[in-house]
Amino acid sequence: MNIDKFTDTIKACRFCFMCRHLSGVGNVTFRECDTPRVRAAMIDGITRNPSEISNADFIRTVYSSDLSAACRFHCVNHFDENGLNLAARRDIVEAGLVPGDVSKLAARLKERAQAPKISGGKEEVLYLVDFLDDEVPSEAEAFHKIMKKAKAKFRVAEGCLAAKALRILGFDSEAKPAFEAFAHAVKASGAKLLVASDPAVYDALKNDFPDLGVKLSAKVAHSSEFISSLKLKYAKKAGKVYYLESDFLKNYNDSYKYPKVLLKQIGAECVPFGTNSEESYTCGEGAVVLNELRPKIVEDMAKYVEARADNPETDKIVVASPYTRARLSQNTKLKVSTLVELAASCL
Ligand code: SF4
Repeated sequence: MNIDKFTDTIKACRFCFMCRHLSGVGNVTFRECDTPRVRAAMIDGITRNPSEISNADFIRTVYSSDLSAACRFHCVNHFDENGLNLAARRDIVEAGLVPGDVSKLAARLKERAQAPKISGGKEEVLYLVDFLDDEVPSEAEAFHKIMKKAKAKFRVAEGCLAAKALRILGFDSEAKPAFEAFAHAVKASGAKLLVASDPAVYDALKNDFPDLGVKLSAKVAHSSEFISSLKLKYAKKAGKVYYLESDFLKNYNDSYKYPKVLLKQIGAECVPFGTNSEESYTCGEGAVVLNELRPKIVEDMAKYVEARADNPETDKIVVASPYTRARLSQNTKLKVSTLVELAASCL
C-alpha cells in the first residue's frame, strides 16, 4: 500500500498533539478525527488490519482534510502527515473504494483535464489560465493591465489545475497523462517560461511533474516572481495590508519569496493576521477542490478567517491564491484581493 512508505510518520504522529491547532478543518469541525494525530492513528490501524480501509467514516475523513501542509512545515522533524493523507487517498482509489461524491467530482475534472489550448504567436512567455478564472475574472484582467504597462508580450495557455486536482484526490494514473499532454503542448509551442497565477498550478509544475517523471521544456514562475522581475514603477503605495500566506507557496515550496518581494515593490506594509503565523488561512487551498467536496466546511473556514480580522469590513486582505480570494469573497464581508490585483491597483 502507498501508506506503507510513511511508517516513520505514522509512528511519530499517532501519539502527538503538537500540531493539532494547524488543522484548518479540525479548527471548524472540532472533531478529533480531523487532526493529524487521529488521522495517523486511524491509518496505523489500517496497516494492522488493511480491510479497515473500506470504513466509510475513515474515507470521509481522509477526503475532508484541507492538506495545507502547515503541520509538515512547522513540525520540528517535518514528519509528512500531509503526504500520508495523499497516500491514503491513492490507496482508496487503487482499492476501488472511491465514494460517490469524489467519483462525480473526479469525472468532471477528467473532462476539464483535456489537452491544453495555447493561443497562437511566438511569444516565449505563456500565461496560464484555468477554470478558477471564471470565478475570479479580475485576476487575469489585472495581469493583462500590468503587462500592458510593462509592454511585455505573452501568450495565453490553459493550465493544468484540473489534473492537479485529480492528483490531490488520489487519481495519479489519470493526472499523469494530462500532465504529459500539457508538457508536450508546451514543448510544441516553443515557450520558454510558464507564468502561473494559481499557486496550485505553480506547485504542480514545480513538484508534481518531476515527481511523476514528466519533463517540462520551459522554466516556471508564479505571477509574483514574473511581475516583480519587471521592476515596474508604481504610482501608488499599497499601504497597510494583511497578507495571508498561500499553502502551496509557503508550505509546499519552502516559503517561496516572491510574494513578499512584490509586496515590498508596491509599498505594502504587511501587518500580522490572526493569533499566530503558523496557521493556514486559505480555506483549503491545499486540497484544491475542497469547496466542491465539502462546501459547508469551507464556508466555516472562511468565517473562521473573518472572525480573526481586526476590522472585517475595512481591513485590506491580500492572498496569493485565486481559490482563497473566491472563497473569502463568497462567504465573508472581508475586502480581499490577490497579489496581482493589488499590484495592478497601484499602477
Ligand atoms: S506532523 Fe509533527 S507535530 Fe504534527 S502530529 Fe506529526 S509529529 Fe506531531
